[in-house]
Amino acid sequence: MEKPLVAASACLLGSPVRYNGDACEFRPLSRRWSEHLKLLPVCPEVGIGLGTPRPTIRLSRGPDGVRLVEPRSGNDLTDKMVAWAQRTSDDLAGLGVDGLVLKKDSPSCGVERVKVHPAKEGRPTRDGVGVFAMVFMALNPQIPVIEEGRLNDPNQAEHFLARVHFHHRWKVAGQDGWTAQRLMNFHQEHKIFLVARTADAKRKLGRSIAAGFDAGLPAAEVALTYMIEAQHHLNVLPRRGRFAHAMERALARMDLALSSPGREQVIRSIHAYRKGELPRMAPLVLLDHLAGSAGSVPPWLGHLSNPVPAATGVLARV
Ligand code: SF4
Repeated sequence: MEKPLVAASACLLGSPVRYNGDACEFRPLSRRWSEHLKLLPVCPEVGIGLGTPRPTIRLSRGPDGVRLVEPRSGNDLTDKMVAWAQRTSDDLAGLGVDGLVLKKDSPSCGVERVKVHPAKEGRPTRDGVGVFAMVFMALNPQIPVIEEGRLNDPNQAEHFLARVHFHHRWKVAGQDGWTAQRLMNFHQEHKIFLVARTADAKRKLGRSIAAGFDAGLPAAEVALTYMIEAQHHLNVLPRRGRFAHAMERALARMDLALSSPGREQVIRSIHAYRKGELPRMAPLVLLDHLAGSAGSVPPWLGHLSNPVPAATGVLARV
C-alpha cells in the first residue's frame, strides 16, 4: 500500500529556510518516520517571497486585530500570507495530504500559543495562531495537524500517526469514487479503531452517515462530513482504559473457547496494560498471534495497531 503523505514545515525537515538561515530539523520525522511516510516540505515565509536570511516577522495586535508584520520596516504581510495560505491549503488537499506537522511558536506555522505582541509597549501574550496554520485548519478540518513539540510525547505521536493513517485509508477507500456502500464498509471496518480512541464517535458517525443519505446528499459530501466529524472526535488523546476495552471487544469477536489458554494469556496481558505494567504492543502482538492461529487476522484488528506507529517504534513506548 502507498505510504501516507504528510506535509511539514520545511525547516523541520532540515531545509535552511528559517529567518536566520538555519534549519531546525526534527529528526524523528525527517530520519526515522520518513521511511514510512511520504514527506512534503512547505515554507510559508519563503512561499510569499521572503528571502533567507530575512528580518524577523511577528504577530502584532492592533486596532485591526492580529496582523503579521515585519517590525523593522513596519510592512504588513497579513493579506499576502492569507492569499498564499489559501492557495497552498487547497493545493495540499488536492495532492491528498494525510496530515500536517508544523513548527511551534512560528507566526506563520505555529498551531497554538504563538506570541502576539502589543502594537506599542508591553509584554506579548501567548494566545496566537500562525497565519498559515490558521488558514489550513479552517479550510481542511478533515486533515490532522500537529506541532512538532507534541510529537516528543510517544502517546501524542502514536495518536497523531494513527489519525494520519485513518485519513489515508479513507482516501484510498474513496479513490474510485464514494458510494453509500463503500462508506458504510469503511465505517464498519473502523469501528474497533474508533471505540479504542473516542467515547461515542462510532455511534455518532453511524448516525451522521444515515442522516446524510436520508437527506439525499451526494456520497462524496457525506464521506467528507464523515472524516471532518471523525477527526474532530479524534482530536482528544485516548486513554489507556479505552484501548483495553477495545482489545477486550476484539477478543470477544474472535469466538474462542472461554478456557482457551491463548485467550487467558491475552486477558492477563490486557489487564497488565490497563495497569500500566506493559506497553500496548504486548497485548496487541498476542491478539494478532491468536487471530492468526484461529484462521486469518481480520482487517479491523489491524486497525487497533495501525502499521505506521508500529513501524516507527512509537507503539513500543506507549
Ligand atoms: S515559515 Fe514555517 S517552515 Fe518556514 S522557516 Fe518559519 S517555521 Fe519554518
